[in-house]
Amino acid sequence: MSNNKDLNKVSVLVVGAGPAGLATAIKLKIQKPDIDICVVEKSADLGNHNLSGAVLEHEPLHSLLDEASPDWRDTDIAKDVLANVIDKDNVMFFLGKNFSFNIFFALKLAKTFGINFGQMIHKGDYSVSISKLTKWLGQIAQNLGVEVLTGFAVNDIILDESSGTAKGVKLVDQGLDKEGHKQPNFVEGETIYADFVVLAEGCDGLVTEKFVTKANLQRQSPQLFSIGVKELIKVSPEQYQKFTSGRVVHAMGYPIWTPVVGPGMFGGGIVYAGAQDHLSVGMIVGADWKYHDFNPQDALTNFKNHSFVKQFIEGGQVVEAGAKMIPEGGYYAIPREPKTGNIGKGNVMILGDSAGFVNMLKIKGLHNAIDSGIQAANAIIQSIDNPETAASVYTKLVEKSNIGKEMQAAKNFRQTVAKFGPLQGMPLSILGGLLPKYKVEKDYEAMTIAKYRLKPNQNFDKDTFTAMAATAHREEEPSHLTIIDENICKEKCSPKFNSPCITFCPAGVYEMIHDDVKPANPSNCLHCKTCQRKCPFDNIRWTVPEGSGGPRYNRM
Ligand code: SF4
Ligand code: SF4
Repeated sequence: MSNNKDLNKVSVLVVGAGPAGLATAIKLKIQKPDIDICVVEKSADLGNHNLSGAVLEHEPLHSLLDEASPDWRDTDIAKDVLANVIDKDNVMFFLGKNFSFNIFFALKLAKTFGINFGQMIHKGDYSVSISKLTKWLGQIAQNLGVEVLTGFAVNDIILDESSGTAKGVKLVDQGLDKEGHKQPNFVEGETIYADFVVLAEGCDGLVTEKFVTKANLQRQSPQLFSIGVKELIKVSPEQYQKFTSGRVVHAMGYPIWTPVVGPGMFGGGIVYAGAQDHLSVGMIVGADWKYHDFNPQDALTNFKNHSFVKQFIEGGQVVEAGAKMIPEGGYYAIPREPKTGNIGKGNVMILGDSAGFVNMLKIKGLHNAIDSGIQAANAIIQSIDNPETAASVYTKLVEKSNIGKEMQAAKNFRQTVAKFGPLQGMPLSILGGLLPKYKVEKDYEAMTIAKYRLKPNQNFDKDTFTAMAATAHREEEPSHLTIIDENICKEKCSPKFNSPCITFCPAGVYEMIHDDVKPANPSNCLHCKTCQRKCPFDNIRWTVPEGSGGPRYNRM
C-alpha cells in the first residue's frame, strides 16, 4: 500500500469509487465517524473511469449532501458540478436524417394518466459530468476520513469456505511482463480483510461477477446491456446559446430504428448541455443488435449528421470521448441469493450498476446508484454487530426504497422490447405489470449475417476517439483481454460474421494479423467490456489490468 496506515484489515471495504460506493462511505462516516472505511478504485484518479450521459435526479444526492454539509450549495465545486439545471426537456423522434418532431407533449399526457412513459421527464434535475461528480464525492469522503485508494485494482473476493461470508478482497499483482513473468518491480497484490464488503464497481463488474458465481447468486433473466458512446464537444458560444444551458434532448428513431425498412435496434441519441460552450453528444444502443457489421460509433456519426443535431455542433471540436456499457435487464436481472432473494450474501452487498439498478423507463440509474449506496450504509449500521445479516437488511431497505418501486414499475420493459423489437415492444410496454416476463436470449446470441444498411461511407476514426479518452496501460503488462479459442474465430466467426469484434470495439483493440484475430492493442482498451458481451461465440474474456490503467475521463 502507498500509505502509512495498516489497511490489511478494515471494517468496511468498498470496491469501486463511483457514486454508489462513495455514497456508502460518506453516509456511513457521517453516522459512525469512528468506523474505518477503505474504498479501492482501479482508475488512476477519481472519476477517470466514470462515464455517463448524465441526467441526475437530485433527491438522493441532495439528502446525502445535506447531511454531509448543510452549506454545500454555496461551494464553488457544487456550483460547477451542478451548474446545468434542466429547464427544457426535448424527447424527439428522428424520421430519416433530416426530419424530426418533438413528442414531449405525448409524454406529459402519459404522465397525467399515470402511464409509464411519463417517467422520461427531467425538468428540475441536473445535467452533469459524472467524472466531476465522482471527484467531488471522493473529496467529501476523504475529508470525512475515508481512505480512498486510487490506482489499485481488485482481482477477486475471498470467501470463507465454511460460512460463505467474505473475508476480504485480493488486489491485482503489479509488475508482471507480457508473458506473466515477475519483473524486478513485481509487487504481489495484497489481501485486504474486511467485516463488510460493498461491491460498487459499475456495470459488469469483474469482482461482482466472480462473487455471483462463487456465491451461486442467480438472475431470473440474463442481464442485457447497451453500449453508450459519447463525445464532449466544444461548440461556439452562439450554438451553446441557441441550445441553452438547461436543455436535454433524447432522440429515438433514426439512425438505429426506423419503421418498416429498419434497422431495428433499441436505444437512442442524446444531446445534453454541459459546461459553458460544451455539449455532450452520445448514442446508446441495445447490445442485442443483430447486424454483424454494426459499430455504435457509426450510429453516432449518423446521429451527429442529423440536421437537428448538426445545427448545434457543426464546426465544434471533440475535447473528450469514451464508451461504456449500461445494464438494462432491470428487475429480473438483479443477481439474488435463490433462497432469500438477497442482493448479495452474508456480509456482501451489491450496489448500483453492479446490481443493475437502472430504471429503463427513464434510462437512468445514477440516482438509484447513490440511493443504493445510502441503503448499504444504513444496512451496515443496522447489522454492525452481525455482519452476516447485512445483505438481508440491505435488500429489505432497497425493496422499500424508491429503487424498489422504480425497478418494479419498469420490470417488463426491456424484455418486452427485446422480444418484439422497438417498434412493437415500446408501445406494448405501456401495459407495464400486466405483461408476462418474456424469455430473452443473451445479447451475444442475437448476432446474424444481416448488415446495418445505414453504414457511413467512411470508417469511424477510432484512433482520435481513443486519444480523446486519454487511455493508457503499462505496455509491458500481460494483456487483460483473452480470446479463448482462436480456432472459433478462424473457422466459425470470420467466415460467417467477418470478425465483428474488429468492427464494434470502440477503441480498435482487435485486429486481423496474418489471418488471426488478436487483441493487438490492449493498451487502447476503454474498459467498456462490450467485447466480452457481444462476441457472438462468447469467446472473449476481460480481466482486470493493473491499477491506474484505462481511460482518464475528466469531464465525461
Ligand atoms: Fe469473432 Fe469473438 Fe473471435 Fe472476435 S473474438 S473473431 S468476435 S469469435
Ligand atoms: Fe471495450 Fe473490449 Fe474494446 Fe476494451 S477491448 S474497448 S473492453 S470492446
